Amino acid sequence: MLDRRTKLMEYQTYIDGQWVDAASGKTLQSSDPYTGEPWALIPECDKTDVDRAVEAASRAFDSGPWPQLTPTARGKVMRRIAELIEKHAQHLGEIEVRDNGKLISEMAAQTKYMPEWFYYYAGLADKIQGAVVSVDRQDHFNYILREPVGVCAFIIPWNSPLMLATWKLAPALAAGCTVVIKPSEFTSASLLEFIKLVIEPAELPPGVVNVVTGYGPVVGEPLVTHPKVAKVAFTGGSATGARVNELAAKSFKKVSLELGGKSPNIVFDDCILEDAVSGAVSGIFAATGQTCIAGSRLLLQETIHDQFVEKLIAMARTARLGDPALAETQVGPVTTPAQYQKILSYIDIAKGEGAHCALGGGPASEAEGGGKYFVKPTIFTGVDNKMRIAQEEVFGPVLSVIKFKDEADAIRIANDIAYGLGAGVWTQSVKRAHTMAKRIKAGTVWVNTYRAVSFLMPFGGYKSSGLGRENGMEAIDGYLQSKSVWINNGPGGGNPFVMKTAS
Ligand code: NDP
Repeated sequence: MLDRRTKLMEYQTYIDGQWVDAASGKTLQSSDPYTGEPWALIPECDKTDVDRAVEAASRAFDSGPWPQLTPTARGKVMRRIAELIEKHAQHLGEIEVRDNGKLISEMAAQTKYMPEWFYYYAGLADKIQGAVVSVDRQDHFNYILREPVGVCAFIIPWNSPLMLATWKLAPALAAGCTVVIKPSEFTSASLLEFIKLVIEPAELPPGVVNVVTGYGPVVGEPLVTHPKVAKVAFTGGSATGARVNELAAKSFKKVSLELGGKSPNIVFDDCILEDAVSGAVSGIFAATGQTCIAGSRLLLQETIHDQFVEKLIAMARTARLGDPALAETQVGPVTTPAQYQKILSYIDIAKGEGAHCALGGGPASEAEGGGKYFVKPTIFTGVDNKMRIAQEEVFGPVLSVIKFKDEADAIRIANDIAYGLGAGVWTQSVKRAHTMAKRIKAGTVWVNTYRAVSFLMPFGGYKSSGLGRENGMEAIDGYLQSKSVWINNGPGGGNPFVMKTAS
């Protein structure tokens, strides 16, 4: 059970296999979102620390023991990482509860599942294969090597730091890359604990995994622009993602972006009603709505609208707010004060736009199980898809209910948005399920389920929800590049001023 009476924890960051303070000696405070009180001190790094970390990662990539390891040996190191996560799962989960306000029940599920990413990509490490190409020349032997891209910079948001770092770290290590990770200033502790309990004892060579903690622009920008960083893998909001993409483009870095969403959760009148109601609740109130895949636009077929809303409100009313460290809690605090204010301001925007507040609609008091940064589960009905509350990401427990007539109408509304991360469809018709899956412009479509993820299934966004895919086989491609090798076993010569093409 989480002990909140401990004195202020003091963390160092991890560069080149050493625990170090920020070069400036500065620290920043991390607060427990449930109490609102500071509980940890984190190094406030800057460009000097970024340079140290990238140099260490670059040395480790070029000349350390890491590139000497066979892919099979890399896989073994990664299996050790998986076993160490299994060993420390509970502690890692509790740190994230303390630092982020995530539910202990959610963290138990996440930390139990995280090792699978390392087992899966450990298995892929020695299955990275090039090819021999029968080229259109006599006496030539041509082949393609698949090589790691180099030093990778990971920028991680506050909402699921361990899980989202895992999605990047496992394929990057399998590919043979080295990494520098910048966690969010609000939630750095769980990653530092992960390094201490998992990465260090797994005996990765120094410099293979480094962490620079601190503020977004101060640490993130020098990291993204550092000439020795080859790839940037970013998860966060779309506006920051656009900035990171722009900065990285100046030195032609490879970039993958996992960004925001405003996902439609679409309920047809031929669904199993109880399942769909539960799916709608899970889509928006799980993780206090602070998830990129939140089903924040509930599209209801007009024939079942009133009946569905009634059942939805009845279920949402039963959500237990409270201490995220308690197993029975279902909705925890908002993670940061700024996010709390943002959610409340969107509630005002929705009211101002004329949406009807059918449930919640403001802060949740202590008497209601809430506290300093709690927002009541909130449902707006009568929402038009053009309203800001339907178009913009709130990232909190606020649902917009939108009516639709038929399949064509549902598809039109679902796709009429800048985002395209996820979508839910609730129907018993196989034909409709496949039609919707094909026509919705989103990286993931869940039919009769919601918020399911796996290391086996690619994850990423269409449109403003991102670039590239994490998870599954294709994620490792993001950390590899091809090299074409031409070996001429025949005579040289020919006209030196003319390109050598097939004769
Ligand atoms: P932000 O975009 O604010 O921050 C993401 C990360 O970027 C943080 O580490 C942040 O550091 C850092 N950062 C901030 N400014 C810069 C900068 N100028 N240059 C480089 N890095 C910078 O997002 P949030 O942390 O608020 O996370 C919430 C967002 O993340 C939501 O929009 C959500 O949808 C999205 N998200 C997407 C997911 C996906 O897979 N598609 C998954 C989870 C979240 P700091 O915090 O220190 O400022």
